[in-house]
Amino acid sequence: MGKTQMFKKILIANRGEIACRVAATARRLAIQTVAVYSDADANAKHVTACDEAVYIGGSAPKDSYLRWEKIIEAAKATGAQAIHPGYGFLSENEEFAQACAKAGLVFIGPPASAISAMGLKAESKQLMEKAGVPLVPGYHAADQDPALLQREADAIGYPVLIKASAGGGGKGMRAVDKSEDFAAALASCQREAINSFGDDAVLIEKYVQRPRHIEIQVFGDTQGNYVYLFERDCSVQRRHQKVLEEAPAPGMTPELRARMGQAAVEAARAVNYVGAGTVEFIVEQPGGYAHPEQMKFYFMEMNTRLQVEHPVTEAITGLDLVEWQLRVAAGEPLPLRQDQLQIQGHAIEARICAENPDNNFLPATGTLQVYGLPAHVTFERAPHGTRVDSGVRQGDTISPFYDSMVAKLIVHGATRAEALARMDAALAQTHIVGLATNVQFLRHVTTSASFAQAQLDTALIPREAAVLFNQDKVGLPLAVAALVAHTLQAEQTLAAQRDAHGWQDPWAQRDGWKSHGAQVRSFSVEYAGAPQGALLTHLRGGGLQLSVAGESQPLRWGAQGAGLDISFGNMRSVVNLYRNGDVAQVFTASGATQIIAIDALAHAGDTQAEGGRLTAPMPGKVVSFAVKAGDAVTKGQALAVMEAMKMEHTIAAPVDGTVAELLFAPGDQVTEGAELLRLEAAA
Ligand code: ADP
Ligand code: ADP
Ligand code: MG
Repeated sequence: MGKTQMFKKILIANRGEIACRVAATARRLAIQTVAVYSDADANAKHVTACDEAVYIGGSAPKDSYLRWEKIIEAAKATGAQAIHPGYGFLSENEEFAQACAKAGLVFIGPPASAISAMGLKAESKQLMEKAGVPLVPGYHAADQDPALLQREADAIGYPVLIKASAGGGGKGMRAVDKSEDFAAALASCQREAINSFGDDAVLIEKYVQRPRHIEIQVFGDTQGNYVYLFERDCSVQRRHQKVLEEAPAPGMTPELRARMGQAAVEAARAVNYVGAGTVEFIVEQPGGYAHPEQMKFYFMEMNTRLQVEHPVTEAITGLDLVEWQLRVAAGEPLPLRQDQLQIQGHAIEARICAENPDNNFLPATGTLQVYGLPAHVTFERAPHGTRVDSGVRQGDTISPFYDSMVAKLIVHGATRAEALARMDAALAQTHIVGLATNVQFLRHVTTSASFAQAQLDTALIPREAAVLFNQDKVGLPLAVAALVAHTLQAEQTLAAQRDAHGWQDPWAQRDGWKSHGAQVRSFSVEYAGAPQGALLTHLRGGGLQLSVAGESQPLRWGAQGAGLDISFGNMRSVVNLYRNGDVAQVFTASGATQIIAIDALAHAGDTQAEGGRLTAPMPGKVVSFAVKAGDAVTKGQALAVMEAMKMEHTIAAPVDGTVAELLFAPGDQVTEGAELLRLEAAA
């Protein structure tokens, strides 16, 4: 074994969170980094996370992140010695791995021959069969005659799963329940396979009972050493794609772990694997959740790259897998032997995606207007803590070109229960506004009975559907209380600003309220698609009473950090509310929701304002004016308050302009349509 030298500079051929994550380890090891970026990513976080960056083309992956000639050129031009491919994109592309070698660059990953051997599911299964790794009963030979495939499926026994051999990312799979359905499912699977992967070869597997996805992290070095870094359970899936991952797998016995670990190492050895890889197993639970000792495991596929969910392994082992990748790629031996590896505590990862779970997980795009993350450490191995791996910042856009994954939350605790509690807290503190995300859905999953009790299998989401989808844990009363408190706070802030400027402000005079006795003010909102009304009474003694949904309760609120500490009746909650125009997003400890403020009177003001006239929308009394003649006002600014039908209504400026004249005084009774003040619209 010769003396090895760590890289001085590497290029990261990826984007988003994984590019940032790789850059962080490189920085810690004093390795310089080169980013590559597309048009859509010109200002992306991963570009600033690296020391230099090279533009490689258009936004679509085929015009940039998949253009390996361009990427190799960028590496040579910047003097990078090695390329880290991240996951996805070129990470499992054997041609790219070969091209790197040809260009004198180190591909931070396995040899091209190992990528190729594991690239097709059917061929890799043939190889694994020879290596003695247990396989799901099924058919994975080359002959693709439909009649033969039908006979094989019938012999395996239903249900079966047809898989595209070249498939990945949960695509190209069809479950078939009975023989009569096989031919149609095969044809549709082949169509998808040819469209997505350019190859319609399929294999057939028995659909295992209560399937659990348990995978083993393996590592090999160039000296032929192998270790396994234990397992991850990735059973919680939607569309055959992972949603939550954890380590260790609940119910795993040391004996089964050792057998699965050994099988994974054999799989890696069979293809002369080097670097980080994951051997995915499907695990059958014939005895049900309560009998993990009856679990049977079968090889599914090997992913020849770093996996999205590698942080849970880092959390329980205290290791940095990217550091291991770099050391192995530089020719160093594995840093630790199998007997030096240990599991500590329990870790869970949640993938935060821009998508709408309540609408069939439809991906969402848009701008991250608010991107509030829980308190965390980002790249340190976080024993008993929370880690966030994120590729975006507030203000960034989630574009349609790439993955919908926005960030990953990783928590670690002494026990699974502790990790679960930490995950719920972390999700509660994740405030994302501007596009749909699965954050609330993830909370519902982690707190569902099945997940909490570790009754894991890939059908967990459909089984728990009743408590996962279309859940609202905030409710109308608290949402309205939050909106009202937020409105009052905004008005107070405005009043304080006016006072500071020495302006006269009748609203700031609390006696004004008192002299009118109990004041009532109405709020119109839209909640869960339905219009709702609420009444706020300013009591004589100074308190507030809020009536909503037939309940009338005292309302108290105060500022707490960036949020509001709200008590309404016997509810008490710290709420963060982000308002963008009429639409407010409400985040509470128990969940998040949206409420829309309908300022009926402000709108009525709009319609009454032709020719700069601001008229009373109904008969009533003028309570106060917030402006005086000569004041310049901006659209939406409150001008006057009227009281009618025991409710207060704010009259807002429909346009920017100047107040020409007040036509009444506070206390005056006015008739409907009476002009209250004259506003001259700005030119
Ligand atoms: P894992 O098992 O680690 O979750 P996946 O198969 O889901 O791996 O893919 C890993 C990542 O790579 C995901 O973010 C996925 O969207 C992305 N990905 C998968 N296939 C491709 C591809 N062909 N091109 C680009 N990215 C891909
Ligand atoms: P991909 O390349 O898309 O990741 P996999 O072969 O890894 O495809 O399978 C993806 C998922 O499909 C698994 O995690 C599991 O949930 C489900 N699955 C795969 N094979 C089986 C099987 N034989 N029985 C039941 N479920 C399976
Ligand atoms: Mg897989």
